[in-house]
Amino acid sequence: QKYERVNLQSLLEQVITLMVSQALLNNIQIVTQIDFSYTWITGDKNQLKQVFINFIKNAIEAMPEGGMVQINGSPLACGQVRISITDQGCGIPEDILNQIGQPFFTTKENGTGLGLLVSREIIKEHKGDLYIESNKNGTTLHVEFPLSSEQ
Ligand code: ADP
Ligand code: MG
Repeated sequence: QKYERVNLQSLLEQVITLMVSQALLNNIQIVTQIDFSYTWITGDKNQLKQVFINFIKNAIEAMPEGGMVQINGSPLACGQVRISITDQGCGIPEDILNQIGQPFFTTKENGTGLGLLVSREIIKEHKGDLYIESNKNGTTLHVEFPLSSEQ
């Protein structure tokens, strides 16, 4: 595990580049509204990428008929930054939401049920937070990280 100063714009661009073909194959557009060119966080680049890959993959899998994945970013007060990933899937039912974070819990035929659990652990190790908002019109995952002390 290697912690370094990570530029959030290039990290997210790399992740989106990795995911765009899977999205297009599923008739899904990834729309971003981020300006993180001058935003740095501290962490393990590969682990951080894994988090966003997991979330975007879940978003794609939640929309079998196609749709849009929105990635928004906003600076927060108190030296934090927030990245929000929204899909137009049918949401996570409440009883399932309560079981999320249990290893191997999946509603998918070929799912591992590890994506959210591993992501949540990585976020925690990076002193970040994860908030999940979900209803029948879709799901938004809000991920927050502390900014690197050197911006
Ligand atoms: P997997 O994707 O392998 O099933 P995850 O840990 O990534 O494992 O997700 C666990 C479960 O949470 C999924 O099987 C699904 O039921 C639910 N889930 C996760 N993300 C979403 C989402 N964006 N929309 C709807 N359901 C979701
Ligand atoms: Mg998953």
